[in-house]
Amino acid sequence: MTFHLHTYGCQMNVRDSEAVEALLSAAGHVRVENEADAELVIVNSCTVRDMAERKAVGKCGNLIAAKEGRGRQSESGGRVKVVGLMGCAVKRLGADVFKALPGLDFAVGPRRFGMIPRLVARCLAGETRILELPDDDEVPTGMDAHGGGVSFQSYVTILLGCDNRCSYCIVPDVRGHEYSRPAREVVAEVRALAARGVKEVCLLGQSVLRYGMRNKAWLPDDPPSPGGYKEAFPRLLEALNAIDGLARIRFTSAHPKGCTDELVRAYAEFPKVCRHLHLPVQSGSDRVLKEMGRHYTRAEYLAAVAKLRAFDPEFAVTTDVIVGYPGETESDFEATRSLMEEAGFDNAFVFKYSPRPGTRSAALPDDVPTAEKERRDQVLLADQQLRGQARNDRLVGTVREVLAEGPSLRNAVRWSGRDSGNRIVVFEPKGPLAVGAPVNVRIREAHPQILIGEIASS
Ligand code: SAH
Ligand code: SF4
Repeated sequence: MTFHLHTYGCQMNVRDSEAVEALLSAAGHVRVENEADAELVIVNSCTVRDMAERKAVGKCGNLIAAKEGRGRQSESGGRVKVVGLMGCAVKRLGADVFKALPGLDFAVGPRRFGMIPRLVARCLAGETRILELPDDDEVPTGMDAHGGGVSFQSYVTILLGCDNRCSYCIVPDVRGHEYSRPAREVVAEVRALAARGVKEVCLLGQSVLRYGMRNKAWLPDDPPSPGGYKEAFPRLLEALNAIDGLARIRFTSAHPKGCTDELVRAYAEFPKVCRHLHLPVQSGSDRVLKEMGRHYTRAEYLAAVAKLRAFDPEFAVTTDVIVGYPGETESDFEATRSLMEEAGFDNAFVFKYSPRPGTRSAALPDDVPTAEKERRDQVLLADQQLRGQARNDRLVGTVREVLAEGPSLRNAVRWSGRDSGNRIVVFEPKGPLAVGAPVNVRIREAHPQILIGEIASS
C-alpha cells in the first residue's frame, strides 16, 4: 500500500523514520511524498517536552478522524486506511495510548520499529490496536536499513538509549539503556553508504562520546587501531576516516566529559572529521548543574570548550540550554548568560523547562512563571544573535570548503551548503554543480546564522 511518515523530534527520530521507510519499501509498499496520497500514515513521536508529545498525538488524532470519515478530509485526502504511532511518546504512554487515540491501529515504541512491516501486515489482516513496547535493553533490528533515494548526507545511529539520567529528562525512560552498536557494523554501514555516493555521515547518539563504554564496541578480533587509539569513539573516527569516497564525518550530541585528549587528537589527525561539536550545557549555574545531575561544573565545561578552540580557534561549538528549571533564580539565569558569552557559542537552542512525568525534577514545583521563561528565552536568543554575528564577522574574507546542498530555499539562483563548522554558506554557482560536490567559497558577508560568499575555486 502507499505510505507516508510524519516525523517529530530529534535527528534520531528522523533516522528511525528513514529506516522504517526503507523496511516498508523492501516489503513492497510504496512511499509517497504527499500525505494525502497515502493509505498508511505513521506518525513518529517525540515526548522530550509536553508540547512535542501533544503535537504528535494531535496529528495522529486528526488522521484517525479522517480514516473514520470524521473531521477534515484534507488531513488525508480520504485515502488513509491504517494509522500507526511510533517513537518516544508510545513508550511513555504505554497502553494509555489507546485511551488518547481509540482508533489507532498500531503503536510501537523506540527500538522496535523493525517490526513495523509485520504490524502493517497484521493490520491488513484485520487486527487493530496492536501495542509493542520495547525492553530497556532491547537490541533493535533494521538499524542499518537505508532506502533507495539516499542523498549525499546520511545519519547513522551508533549509540542507542541513555544512562545519564539528568533530572529533567525523559529520554532514558523512553529510549532505554545505553547500547553501542558493534564498530564493525557501523563501519560496514558507512562503507556501504559511501559506495552509494554518500559524502557526509552524521553519527547519532544521546551521548556519542560514551560510545563503547557500557558495552564493548570493538571486539577482540577487530583489527588493531593503526594510530594506537585506545578510546572506542576516537578509534571509530579513525576507521571511518579511512573509508574511500566519504568526505565528512559529523556526530551529535556530546557531553564535556568525553572531550578527552584522544578526541582532540582525532580532530587534529583526521581531515574528514568536521570541526564542530554540539555540546549541550543546559545551564551556567553550578548549583543548577548539580541539581540537574549533569556531572560537570561551569569551569569544567568551559575547559572542554577551551581545549577544542586551543587547537583550532574557528572550531564551532553549539549548545542546548534550558531556561526556567525549578528554582532557577535571576542570578542562576545570569550565570547561564555569562557562560554563553564566555563559551562564545556559534549557535544555541534554548528550551523552556517542561516537567516530564516520572523524572526527578517533576517532583519539584515548576515555579518559574511561563512569562518569565519566555523572557529568559528571548534574552538568550537576542544575545546569541549578537554573538553569532560577531563570531561570523571574523570569517569574512576567509575561504570555507562547503559541500553543495542545492538551491537555497529563499533564492533559487543561489545555492547553499555547510562548512566544516556546520555554518550555512550561501553562494552563486559559476556553472553546473552536483549536489554533494565540494566548493571553496570566499566569504563576503556575515549574518548571525549564515555566511554569504563567492566561489573561489571548485
Ligand atoms: N542527549 C542530549 C540531549 C537530548 S534532549 C544531551 O544530553 O546532550 C535535547 C534537548 O532537549 C536537551 O539538550 C535539553 O536542552 C532539552 N530538554 C530535555 N528535557 C527537557 C525538559 N524536560 N524541558 C525542556 N527541555 C528539555
Ligand atoms: Fe537526557 Fe541527559 Fe541523557 Fe541527554 S544525557 S538524553 S539530557 S538524560
